[in-house]
Amino acid sequence: MTRGGDHRERIREELLSWIRQNDPTGMDWYLDEGPVDEAPAAADAAAEVSGDTTAAAIAPVAQPVAAPATGDPAFDRECHQFLTDTLELIDRGPGRTAGPPVPDKAVVLQALKDIVTPCTACELSGGRTHTVFGAGNPDAAVVFIGEAPGRDEDLQGEPFVGRSGQLLTKILGAIDYGREDVFICNILKCRPPNNRDPQPAEVAACEPHLKRQLAILDPRVICCLGRVAAQTLLGTDASLKRLRETVHFYEGIPVLATYHPAALLRNPGWKRETWNDVRKLRALVDALAAREDRDG
Ligand code: SF4
Repeated sequence: MTRGGDHRERIREELLSWIRQNDPTGMDWYLDEGPVDEAPAAADAAAEVSGDTTAAAIAPVAQPVAAPATGDPAFDRECHQFLTDTLELIDRGPGRTAGPPVPDKAVVLQALKDIVTPCTACELSGGRTHTVFGAGNPDAAVVFIGEAPGRDEDLQGEPFVGRSGQLLTKILGAIDYGREDVFICNILKCRPPNNRDPQPAEVAACEPHLKRQLAILDPRVICCLGRVAAQTLLGTDASLKRLRETVHFYEGIPVLATYHPAALLRNPGWKRETWNDVRKLRALVDALAAREDRDG
């Protein structure tokens, strides 16, 4: 191709990428960076970030920090720092308060679902079509938590269906997860009227269900989807921008936060930040898994 042809091709690619990222329907989750590569070995990852592959450069890395190789050096550096800081915070954190491991999570989770489904502990029970308990892999390493069911979820009894659910499926796919790999639920199990924010009394009434759910699932990491879910779970009024900056803890489980898919449908420009958030989430889950393997 000629130089002029190269130039036009690059402009065309950049334009297509911009259009995908700003698609107002939000349904075209951009994958121009591709899915997260398999996490390299710790030493490789450290060398990749520093650009120095000598033994002297690799030696100072005391703990495995598995950063994804994305071909985006700026993000690789950011992710490496995030992993280093986050693993340190987890080590210094409150520690997990979960009881002994649940032997058959699927059976115990189904028993809890049978208890929660007819719940009438708050007034939302009066307006629901279905209780939306949550769905996914009982052995998932990651639990995604939204705020409450919407209209489609209430009608179908499943979490994150409809347009924002389809977008969440694409976001998961971008970090190489299927919905069957993770568990997805909400703070509230019944739909608030007109999708208003959860009320404190409703959160208080429903929290025991979530607590039991998380005690059974015992995930490596929780990811809150949206401001309301993060503020409610963590009991804070900090902004989502602040909450996205670092790891938090719920019952000793590390918690990260990112945008709700419905917010991305309204603001496609936030997809880039979400893409970075979920890549870091995946890197953290993989790093924690590597540490567990190493430490037995
Ligand atoms: Fe029960 Fe929670 Fe539904 Fe309220 S929102 S009725 S507490 S399951």
